[in-house]
Amino acid sequence: MHLHWFRSDLRIHDNTALDAAASQGPVVALYFITPAQWQQHDDAACKLDLWRRQLIELSAELALLNIPLLIRHCDWWQDIPVLMLDICQQYQIEHVHCNAEYAVNERLRDTAVQQCLQQQQIGFSSYLDQLLFEPGSITTKTNSYFKVFGPFKRACQQRLYDQLPVLLPAPKPQAALAICSDPVPEHIDGFQPVDPHIVQCWPAGETQGWQRLDAFVEDAITDYATQRDFPALSGSSQLSPYLTAGIISIRQCLHAALKAANGELFGPSDGINTWITQLLWREFYQHIVVGFPQVSRHQPFKPETRKLAWRQVSDDLQRWQQGQTGFPIIDAAMRQLQQTGWMHNRLRMIVAMFLSKNLLIDWRLGEQWFMQHLIDGDLAANNGGWQWSASTGTDSVPYFRIFNPVTQSQKIDPDGQFIRQWLPELAHLDNKSIHAPHLSRTVQAGTLDYPPPMVDLATSRERAIAAFAALKA
Ligand code: FAD
Repeated sequence: MHLHWFRSDLRIHDNTALDAAASQGPVVALYFITPAQWQQHDDAACKLDLWRRQLIELSAELALLNIPLLIRHCDWWQDIPVLMLDICQQYQIEHVHCNAEYAVNERLRDTAVQQCLQQQQIGFSSYLDQLLFEPGSITTKTNSYFKVFGPFKRACQQRLYDQLPVLLPAPKPQAALAICSDPVPEHIDGFQPVDPHIVQCWPAGETQGWQRLDAFVEDAITDYATQRDFPALSGSSQLSPYLTAGIISIRQCLHAALKAANGELFGPSDGINTWITQLLWREFYQHIVVGFPQVSRHQPFKPETRKLAWRQVSDDLQRWQQGQTGFPIIDAAMRQLQQTGWMHNRLRMIVAMFLSKNLLIDWRLGEQWFMQHLIDGDLAANNGGWQWSASTGTDSVPYFRIFNPVTQSQKIDPDGQFIRQWLPELAHLDNKSIHAPHLSRTVQAGTLDYPPPMVDLATSRERAIAAFAALKA
């Protein structure tokens, strides 16, 4: 008997390890619920709830294939090797299959499980599935990991021209086994119940992921390059929660984009090419996590920024977290995050830069807040995005690039539609005033139920530049 160990690959179609397990003999599936470990990783309640709801869907899909889904509970990943061995002995498992995960704790967990099983002659295989390319296989001429995105992307493009990854079907139904599936819990211990609005925004199920992908590819992908930066439009795919949970695969996304491009890789459509480039950003940050494992341990990618004099100001941090900074685009974005579990990419960059530069607050506090609230929270992408924004990461542009939240707001939300949606207290303002109400001559002082700006943009910008410049002194 073979065992497929589900982690962040919660689907039956195009699942490399599940396909390998099912092609070698009868298969049973397993998932571990590990609340203490998830809390330590700052996983958001809404993310775990989506994953839990997906387990319900998955269990039903697996039942049609006669694959039972075992669910085991333990607090920490360090408990998994012994539990796994027990399960293997109980069900006479000869081989465990799983799809590789790349952050430090995930790799330590898998090595410990493999070693424990090996002692009892039980096989363990982990497969490339989450990514298009094995980390360590896309390297510079001197065989090291790329540190900047541009050349990494070009190397990936070349590899895609050489060979496209194929899609795998779901396993065929197997003969019924005398093993019952375990019930999926109704709640994950230690995590707050999730707002029904968030549940509604992000329905579980592979079909839901495909529908979203199809709709994006049919309606929006060709305009992606021109529309993706406008948060009031549905210009991006909103597939990140589904990709993070593995409800859809990266190959399914790539093939859908290729279909829209009539099979032509990096053809004439800017929209399709730009979207595939974003998929490669996801790939890039996962490779960074393997090549530079310090980033999984709360360390900056650029070691010289370790000594940066971050301000310790919990009140300021709280105002940012709660969307009370007095900068409408930032506050609207932070409320979008709290109320939907998701934030638009451009806004993630703007609020991250505001926290780490204008407020000069340690990017790790922002990274943690994001993880605690994002339904798509992913260590590699989140850490990569935060370090890029804070100029401690892989960005090749110097630290003095600091977005101005007011001019950004005027550019990406020109008629204030996005701000009006999330800050109803400003909804009555005209299109000009809404970006900086306290500077507007048309807004009477004291009439707004909205705070004044918490910092002066020019002086806080100078302060950030001085703090970075001091690192060189
Ligand atoms: P689309 O624009 O449709 O892109 C398609 C897919 O490509 C996304 O679903 C995602 O998987 C991937 N992708 C797109 N942009 C990026 C990027 N810059 N980096 C890595 N992958 C990307 N993404 C996460 O999935 N999880 C996170 O925890 C996360 N945290 C972030 C934190 C910060 C500070 C920043 C600046 C970015 C972060 N991102 C994160 C990347 C990006 O913001 C989201 O992937 C994107 O907003 C998801 O929306 P979408 O699915 O509509 O993306």
